[in-house]
Amino acid sequence: MKFDTRLVHVGQEIESSEGDVVPPLHVSVSYDRRAQDPVRHFYGRGENPTRAALERCLASLEEARFALVYSSGQAAGVAALSLLEPGDRLLASDDVYGGTRTLFGLLGRYGIQVEHVDFGDPAALDRALGPDVRLVWIETPTNPLVKVTDLADVCRRCHAVGVLVLVDNTFASPALQQPLRHGADIVLHSTTKFLAGHSDVLGGALVYDDPELHSRLLDHRTTTGAVPGALDCFLVHRGLKTLSLRVARQVANAEKLAAALRCSPAVCAVYYPGLPEHPSYSVACRQMAAPGSIVTFACRGDPERVLARTRLFVCAVSLGGVRSLIERPATMTHRPIPRSERLAIGVTDDLIRLSAGIEDPTDLVEDLLAALAPG
Ligand code: PLP
Repeated sequence: MKFDTRLVHVGQEIESSEGDVVPPLHVSVSYDRRAQDPVRHFYGRGENPTRAALERCLASLEEARFALVYSSGQAAGVAALSLLEPGDRLLASDDVYGGTRTLFGLLGRYGIQVEHVDFGDPAALDRALGPDVRLVWIETPTNPLVKVTDLADVCRRCHAVGVLVLVDNTFASPALQQPLRHGADIVLHSTTKFLAGHSDVLGGALVYDDPELHSRLLDHRTTTGAVPGALDCFLVHRGLKTLSLRVARQVANAEKLAAALRCSPAVCAVYYPGLPEHPSYSVACRQMAAPGSIVTFACRGDPERVLARTRLFVCAVSLGGVRSLIERPATMTHRPIPRSERLAIGVTDDLIRLSAGIEDPTDLVEDLLAALAPG
């Protein structure tokens, strides 16, 4: 089955005697053992059929053997970090999502060190790798500068010294990038974003091939309990069915917005990996099916004025939903990062990040240019 067919069919098999075209939502948290032959389900923290259906679909989209879903992207991140032990070192992209950076801040108390690296610089990665490095955490494209890491190259370097590679694929989604194909060991998703797609449900996922990893992560999840509810799984799975359609439209809209911003006198720089002048343009062409729908730009005037003036772009954090969003990293998503650190990674005060939705592109471009206009 091709990707778009898997989106609609995997985990959606028609099994009930009622013939439901949409599989029923299983809300029970406990199961009658006598009614099952063989016994498949005991208790909802361990097993749930609605959750398992979503996991089958997510695994198939990343062409992996296993997927586990969590109550949020952060909970999926915590589960991945449970693979580390005191004395280990973690290497992570220099401009990872602010919440991920905050989460890494907790690791010191467990004796785990974190080092941020520019994965675009192979020499910097080689210098940082060492015997105590157990995990490399890559976010690509990054937030907000949409830098794309060459996954095949980084995975080759890490595997040569036995280091596990995790890729946060939230910004691309499997519709545009499949990290396991490029050698990654674990894919992380905030399913809150493109996968669910409607800004109405939180969720996370880890996707991978290794059965031993699966048994460790499954034990950890059942013990710690960060499972999503059945209705949340149902909503993410419903969202998945239109992933390709939504992403295609979002990318087309982002391309038009980037082109319009590039010609605007109110804009001094546009960061979008679909533009030939973006430093990641050639890696993005090789690794991604399309450059995504996040566009960041530096404006000449007061960014707050622009945020206050858009009518269709909602001023809000998050991304990947059907409704277009606008935000200022310095005061919103990247606010927890000390200013000096933020400036050092290029997240300047004048940046504005857009998440293109599926509205009509003419309306979006008109709205943005009107907000940028003087007067
Ligand atoms: N990873 C990335 C790249 C994100 O942007 C986010 C949230 O914005 C997360 C992980 C965390 O996901 P959640 O908000 O679902 O916990």
